[in-house]
Amino acid sequence: MSATIERDGDVWVSSRTGTRWHVVCGLEVHAQLRTRTKLFCGCETSFGDPPNSRTCPVCTGQPGSLPVLNEEALALAVRAALAIGADVAPWSKFDRKNYFYCDIPKNYQISQFDRPYCTGGGIDLPSGRRIRLHRIHLEEDAGKAIHDRGTTTLVDLNRAGTPLIESVTEADVTSPEDAFDYLTALKEILIYVGASNADMEKGELRCDVNVSVHPAGEGWRTKVEVKNLNSFRNVAAALEHEILRQIQAYESGDESRYPVQETRLWDADKLVTRSMRSKEAADDYRYFTEPDLPPVTVSPSFLERQRGMLPELPAARRTRYVRELGLSAYDADVLVADRAVADFFEAAARISGRPKEAANWISNEVLRALGDAQTGASTIDDLPVKPHDLAELIELVAKGTIHTAAGRTVIREMLESGTAAAEVVERLGLEQVEDESQLEDWCRAALEGKDAIVADVKDGKEKALGALIGPVMQASGGKANPQKVREILKRLILES
Ligand SMILES: [Zn+2]
Repeated sequence: MSATIERDGDVWVSSRTGTRWHVVCGLEVHAQLRTRTKLFCGCETSFGDPPNSRTCPVCTGQPGSLPVLNEEALALAVRAALAIGADVAPWSKFDRKNYFYCDIPKNYQISQFDRPYCTGGGIDLPSGRRIRLHRIHLEEDAGKAIHDRGTTTLVDLNRAGTPLIESVTEADVTSPEDAFDYLTALKEILIYVGASNADMEKGELRCDVNVSVHPAGEGWRTKVEVKNLNSFRNVAAALEHEILRQIQAYESGDESRYPVQETRLWDADKLVTRSMRSKEAADDYRYFTEPDLPPVTVSPSFLERQRGMLPELPAARRTRYVRELGLSAYDADVLVADRAVADFFEAAARISGRPKEAANWISNEVLRALGDAQTGASTIDDLPVKPHDLAELIELVAKGTIHTAAGRTVIREMLESGTAAAEVVERLGLEQVEDESQLEDWCRAALEGKDAIVADVKDGKEKALGALIGPVMQASGGKANPQKVREILKRLILES
């Protein structure tokens, strides 16, 4: 009979044996560098072109062709390393990783084996835990083999030679939540420093997981690799499943069921992992130094130039938004999660001088317009509203020209048509009514027959006024200044 396994923080506890299981997990992430051309040739890295249209003698592995390192790829890789506080080696080298597959025309992949360009570093998670990096190395991507045509396999080499960085964590990940948070933070950093677009749907970010479990106080057991994880949610789900599968296997006491060193694939439809192949040992690849490329050298001045190009990183931005701009941690999170959104916010906050209002308008209205059919925008930069447009709206509300509720109508119109705030206000006649006699008329009408409320207010229960403000606002078509309405109602009642 299988045991019930319950979570106690980062420990999994068996109800049957009481064994407390610990998880040891490391993540390997491949990120595509955001270069215009490939790692060792001048072919463009564009996505979605006709098969084999972005190829040349170098990336198709033709005899006599020679690779030349793309400096921009090295620069981006170094920037990513600096952003996570890693050590960049002044000297590293490329190696050939030998294997045969139809999508790898040279019969080897150029990678870095024993001398990666970067080691160490780490990422602090919101939970306070730190995930250390073991290393990051540069390598070229393989092409793509398409097997879904019956007995034929098609090969597209557009992707072959695309620059990647592969980052490998220490085994510091102890839960599915850690894995999710780490990947989210890593992706954010890569995008912030401009090293990668990190779009998982385009395969620009790929993640593999190594996981094993062992009873508290014992040594590590056999680790299993899980691949085919195409979203962070899938990583967390696969990890959860794999942890439980391994614990159940050990708990069964049946040694034939114990985890073996292998690669498993995550099936996102059935929510299970299945065995793909037993894991090759590293020496199967017969690595040796790439003879066609000189060693990679990073001079102190190159390093400093790259450091100078680093923007303020997400964690620092979050802290500043909360401490200096007075935003809530939640709002800071929402804005910082996307660098373009954070940049938009900063510009609108600076122009208007009102960061809190800028944050509210962006998180409540502007972000809602993304992915919306009416605006057709998928990123904030696609929207017709720019930071100075939003700042103008914020000022109109702050000056009392329009009410916040009217402001919502205005921003929606701005987002759809790109019309300036003041123009929308004028066209829709949304300017607040400040005229005292007009406001008094609406207030007198609202007071009719409301003797109970009048009595309450006279008794000092000012809260009762709330029930009268609504009808006045309605009568004015949302254009009355609610602050003035409140004052007039109070005066009329106390005078009566
Ligand atoms: Zn090429």
